[in-house]
Amino acid sequence: MIFGGIETGGTKTVCAVGTGPDDIREEARFPTDNPDATIGGCIDMFKRWQPDLAAVGIASFGPVDLDPGSDTYGYVTTTPKPNWQYINLAGQVRDALGVPVNFDTDCNGAALGEHMWGAARGVDTFIYLTVGTGIGGGGMVGGQMLHGMLHPEMGHVTVPHDWEQDPYEGWCPYHGDCLEGLAAGPALEGRWRAKGETLPPEHPAWPLEAQYLASGIINMLYVLSPQVVILGGGVMDNRFLYGMVRKEVLRQMNGYLRVPRLLDSLESFIVPPALGNKSGVLGAIALAARARA
Ligand code: ZN
Repeated sequence: MIFGGIETGGTKTVCAVGTGPDDIREEARFPTDNPDATIGGCIDMFKRWQPDLAAVGIASFGPVDLDPGSDTYGYVTTTPKPNWQYINLAGQVRDALGVPVNFDTDCNGAALGEHMWGAARGVDTFIYLTVGTGIGGGGMVGGQMLHGMLHPEMGHVTVPHDWEQDPYEGWCPYHGDCLEGLAAGPALEGRWRAKGETLPPEHPAWPLEAQYLASGIINMLYVLSPQVVILGGGVMDNRFLYGMVRKEVLRQMNGYLRVPRLLDSLESFIVPPALGNKSGVLGAIALAARARA
């Protein structure tokens, strides 16, 4: 029995067939531009694996409709991405292949991948936060994927804006200076007029970035009490940021939570994804393994 996984992202879609990190039988990438071509490309690849293909998991950019009782369950909904508004992503795949499809957000998918095979193995309450062209989050509480009313939108939490150091107003079209507006890749570029990857580790961009990310993480820590916080995404490819974020979390928490996890082993509390940039597509395969007919 093998599974198909689809991870749709803002620019590219990754599609794979297999059962886990050590068993990927085929993998393909498509640009996420024309939905017919992108979804059709994935379906064509999966068709070659029938009848062995037992189910498909989809980890999608959003917003998405995850309410099984809704008429638009399985759709990408109000995305600003051209041509992708109200696209029936899960339904098209299910109808074309006739197999169960399990549908979730890209961040929940990545979180599940890390739970199965990566940095969140053995814990049942954790968050996965990606810091890239946007900031998104997913995770589990008590072993259940976070869904609720819609799905988490952790990137849009409010964090204290350090106006004294940082006159940049933020770029989120809805909120201006929410966490995403202040700390995603476009904020670095908007504030410093240079792409994040060109800024050296000693640049003042980074203490400010760590300050904002730590504020966001502390919000999540107080609300969900995660056992692990996984930080992924392109901005976190600047590995020196992990140490800076950990220090900032301790500084801003100001001695409030006195638990060994934070005081003695912060290095194993705020961590990179163990599956690197494969968390999402492997998570989609893990979603497939949980699919119900
Ligand atoms: Zn926002």
